[in-house]
Amino acid sequence: MIYPIVKYGQEVLERPAAPVTQFDGSLEKLVADMFETMYAANGVGLAAPQIGISLKLCVIDVSCGKEPNARLVLLNPEIIAMEGEQVEEEGCLSLPDFRAKTRRPLRATVRAQDLSRTEFTLSAEGLLARAFCHETEHLGGKLFISHLSRLKRDSIKRQVRRMVKAGEW
Ligand SMILES: [Zn+2]
Repeated sequence: MIYPIVKYGQEVLERPAAPVTQFDGSLEKLVADMFETMYAANGVGLAAPQIGISLKLCVIDVSCGKEPNARLVLLNPEIIAMEGEQVEEEGCLSLPDFRAKTRRPLRATVRAQDLSRTEFTLSAEGLLARAFCHETEHLGGKLFISHLSRLKRDSIKRQVRRMVKAGEW
């Protein structure tokens, strides 16, 4: 099932999500639906609050569905180490059509649980490290625009407000 994606302005995107505690069939179904929703939107990551579900859960696939091994499910993730720096264009499915150069660590290590509740840690660099940071922040109620200059952020907020008024958001 493909969920509609919640856009910036909705409260669910800006509050910390609740930890995942029920590891059952309905969680597996939700994860499958999140992958389907993410691929349909051509995204490389999707956090549960982006479909209106306030749970610490995100899916990532920086291969865009090309490599089955690239599918990652992070439950209750935490970034436990960061190193270096990269500045690249970043976007978010909840802020469609807005992209901006965003500073991130070059390498990041995430600790999370998988669907069988097993804890694991994973280190990555480049785009995947960026995705770890971006998606984990979603679960804390933080969006990538919080990393931009105030000027840039205010400009995006203004444009969103204009689109909301015009019924285009
Ligand atoms: Zn996002």
